[in-house]
Amino acid sequence: MNDASLPPCALTIAGSDSGGGAGIQADLKTFAAHRVHGLSAIAALTAQHTRGVTAVHVPDTAFLRAQIDACFDDFAIGAVKLGMLANAEVIHAVADALEHHRPAHVVLDPVMVSTSGARLLETSALDALRTRLIPMATLITPNLPEAELLIGRAIVDIDAMHEAIGTLLGLGAGAVLLKGGHLPVDASPRNEVVDLFADGSAVHAIAHPRLSLDAHGTGCTLASAVAANLCLGRDLRGSCDAAADYVHAALRKGYRPGRGDVLVLDHF
Ligand code: PLP
Repeated sequence: MNDASLPPCALTIAGSDSGGGAGIQADLKTFAAHRVHGLSAIAALTAQHTRGVTAVHVPDTAFLRAQIDACFDDFAIGAVKLGMLANAEVIHAVADALEHHRPAHVVLDPVMVSTSGARLLETSALDALRTRLIPMATLITPNLPEAELLIGRAIVDIDAMHEAIGTLLGLGAGAVLLKGGHLPVDASPRNEVVDLFADGSAVHAIAHPRLSLDAHGTGCTLASAVAANLCLGRDLRGSCDAAADYVHAALRKGYRPGRGDVLVLDHF
């Protein structure tokens, strides 16, 4: 294989989901489906299945830093995706590593609580996320509950989503993809899910028909698909469009691998 046909590399720094639906596992499947070589630094481990999270283990940050350094020391990394980071100490370790290695793109999914209700980021870590990681992100991809915690007010309809965009951009990220999937059905026009992309110049709406499915791992997959598209040379807005299409298609084909009612995405 010559260099021109080599897949680009993307790095995910996130949590492991033993059930294979979200986290690192979803990220690596997404990278592979885009023909991007996936690297991983595991910031937290969850014991998890389709009915919930049963335990969480956070390895020490020196070992996390060793994983990140090993990746940067050997691979040309086109983009970094950040997912579950568990606590403030992990956030500071990741921020220190990224300040050192300075990747071209950082896609930050500010993971806080799982769909099943498990806390994946300590509340006390919100400030570290705001002050250390968001300002170095190319893009942040909050869902509505995460955006509400970041800006400190409720987002109840599409107008409130538009208003939230300005406050979110004010936190210092290059761009925001605010995911509208949590809006109540009666607040969604035409039974669509609308995500808003904004980079400070214009706001661009990305709409898909609402699929009323209790799915797991959609946020991880969306952020990874944006990172994969950036690695493949797409611009940021085009990467967000392509990633939203990817999640929608994978959701349509989704399946229920466990005894819980939760659906996981089909990446292939
Ligand atoms: N588990 C891990 C390790 C994750 O990183 C994430 C998500 O971002 C989740 C669970 C939550 O996924 P979901 O909200 O789709 O249940």
